Amino acid sequence: MTLRVGVIGAGMIGQEHTRRLTTVVTGAEVVAITDLTADRAERIAAETGARAYASGAEVIAGPDVDAVLVTSWGPTHAEYVLAAIAAGKPVFCEKPLATAAADCLRILEAEIAHGGRLVQIGFMRRYDAGYRRLKELVDADGIGTPLMVHCAHRNPTVPVSYTSEMAMLDTAIHEVDVLRWLLGEEIVSAQVLTPRPTGRRFEHLQDPQIMLFATSGGVRIDVEVFVNCQYGYDIRCEIVGETGAARLPDPARPAVRHDGRESTAIVSDWRDRFGDAFDTEIQAWVDAAAAGTATGPTAWDGYAATAVGDATVEALKTQEIVAVDLEARPAFYPGAQQ
Ligand code: NAP
Repeated sequence: MTLRVGVIGAGMIGQEHTRRLTTVVTGAEVVAITDLTADRAERIAAETGARAYASGAEVIAGPDVDAVLVTSWGPTHAEYVLAAIAAGKPVFCEKPLATAAADCLRILEAEIAHGGRLVQIGFMRRYDAGYRRLKELVDADGIGTPLMVHCAHRNPTVPVSYTSEMAMLDTAIHEVDVLRWLLGEEIVSAQVLTPRPTGRRFEHLQDPQIMLFATSGGVRIDVEVFVNCQYGYDIRCEIVGETGAARLPDPARPAVRHDGRESTAIVSDWRDRFGDAFDTEIQAWVDAAAAGTATGPTAWDGYAATAVGDATVEALKTQEIVAVDLEARPAFYPGAQQ
């Protein structure tokens, strides 16, 4: 069976996933596309052989649409995910699941009422080969019980529209998800330290930031977010356990010896760094959606990330340690480590 996909939001990542669904993964075709900018939807639809629709609601209702991919602006995600669940259609939702925790809880209720998984969240790091090896090692007790994690998330630059809150909500949200998964524990509190800001930033922005998290089991995590580091896109993660330490490998690049020096290229953006992970993620979604279900990061994972995000933004504003307000996990959803 070929999974017929409807795409809501044909912006940057919507176009990337449309290309991926059309030319990279197997078993899917894009049949419907909508975007707030109708011309854009029509152009991408014409290039893809899909039909352009005037609204997300029409895409979800489309009789030839088997599954829905939501890549619109974050605040619109909840409405489309709820509509897809109501239609009984599998839905891939780029992060965030919703910008408000209350909307995430409505989605959990709707999916539980449906009686089976339909929602997959776009936390693609879980599909990155390096993170997967790290998880296998931790799960096999290769470094003993994890005690501390040191992370960095560095981007060369960000546009003027990037705000201090986005350091958590758009950037560190990936660390939050992948660390919950790696450690198999929920994050229970957040604190944000604000070092001397770099001079190479827009005036409104606090950059860098150091986020300190504690997990339910007492693991302490520090995440440096530095989005104007200038030199490249650099993702670092080291887990320190009772008997050893393990570091996320850098992407494989040749070590070049030239002109009296040895050097290794650093990737410049997230598409380059996580391209393979996105491909694997979308293939996994297509395979599960074709069977009428979903796999990978759940709506619960989306809710937990939003709840940690809320606490971290509050911590940035107040400069205090803020507890994460997380409801009890329904038995329907597996724990953080699944
Ligand atoms: P973008 O380039 O601004 O694209 C969003 C698109 O959605 C725009 O074309 C926008 O149209 C359209 N749109 C907004 N509201 C809509 C609605 N109600 N119905 C239909 N279309 C709508 O943003 P992006 O960078 O692609 O990001 C999209 C989502 O993906 C965000 O939630 C973002 O966090 C997520 N994302 C995830 C990753 C990842 O690493 N997993 C990476 C990048 C982005 P207009 O331009 O006309 O407003």
